[in-house]
Amino acid sequence: MKNISVIGSGTMGNGIAHVFAQFGYNVSLIDIQDEALKRALQTIEKNLDRQVSKQQITEENKKQALANIKTFTNLQQGVASADLVVEAATENVDLKLKIFKEMDAFSHAGCILATNTSSISITKIASVTKRPQQVIGMHFMNPVPVMKLVEVIRGYNTSDEVTKNIMALSTQLQKVPVEVNDYPGFIANRILMPMINEAIYSLYEGVAGVEEIDTVMKLGMAHPMGPLQLTDFIGLDVCLSILQVLYTGFGNPKYAPCPLLVNMVQAGHKGVKSGSGFYQYTAGSKELVVAPQFIN
Ligand code: NAD
Repeated sequence: MKNISVIGSGTMGNGIAHVFAQFGYNVSLIDIQDEALKRALQTIEKNLDRQVSKQQITEENKKQALANIKTFTNLQQGVASADLVVEAATENVDLKLKIFKEMDAFSHAGCILATNTSSISITKIASVTKRPQQVIGMHFMNPVPVMKLVEVIRGYNTSDEVTKNIMALSTQLQKVPVEVNDYPGFIANRILMPMINEAIYSLYEGVAGVEEIDTVMKLGMAHPMGPLQLTDFIGLDVCLSILQVLYTGFGNPKYAPCPLLVNMVQAGHKGVKSGSGFYQYTAGSKELVVAPQFIN
């Protein structure tokens, strides 16, 4: 594999493009918004600069990585020469089904179609293509250039060969791939999201405040970040949609999203990306301004 297309240039897409470009692949980064592509290239450059300043890569490596990335707003052109397409567009099932139909129609027959979805069924996504054996989950973690894990999710029809190729490719990117089967939330979010939901329920029921809940989990469980701050980083809207997938997928009320989470998303408090969630952030940055002490 040499030519990699990445669909969606948001939080995850720019990180995935960064890592492939850093390891010498030709990357076509595709988004419907020209502005998103411009922002993505700026973010990638900033993150490469950070790696240079930490002496993880050289200035020459940085230039080469940036030269490896081309941007497209047209999906058909962007996937035309791809050996692998990694879809990282917005977490919405109808949108992903539409994009996979297009990926299937416009990429060559041998191309592997991967999705970075956090929770949507790989088997369902594969069912709208004519090559379900070549559809697989490649679930990178945020921030992609830093986090080691890739959860590799086999759909019901994914072939052994495709799984082996994607495991090997992830290792080449100096990640640690873990193979899992296709059930709601896979492993990462099946375990993480109930913890996040329980933290939000604890706040909603007035058991403790935002900072208290996060401090308990940081100092008591050695988590690098508390669950409420982590929710802000992931995006409250993303967490809500994953919980809804778990809730409907298992039909078990233990996954029902906390009403406070639902309210906050409806009110536009989506976390870092909107400037406020459980904490407040300086516009356009991850810098924390203040933790609100709201207890219901
Ligand atoms: P995001 O909102 O930051 O970015 C999504 C991008 O997709 C936007 O730039 C949008 O313009 C683009 N897009 C929408 N429709 C498109 C289309 N038809 N064609 C091309 N581009 C399109 O979202 P994100 O947080 O990067 O999430 C992307 C995917 O990664 C989701 O499936 C999400 O569940 C998954 N994921 C997110 C995280 C996280 O921490 N945010 C972690 C792991 C996986």
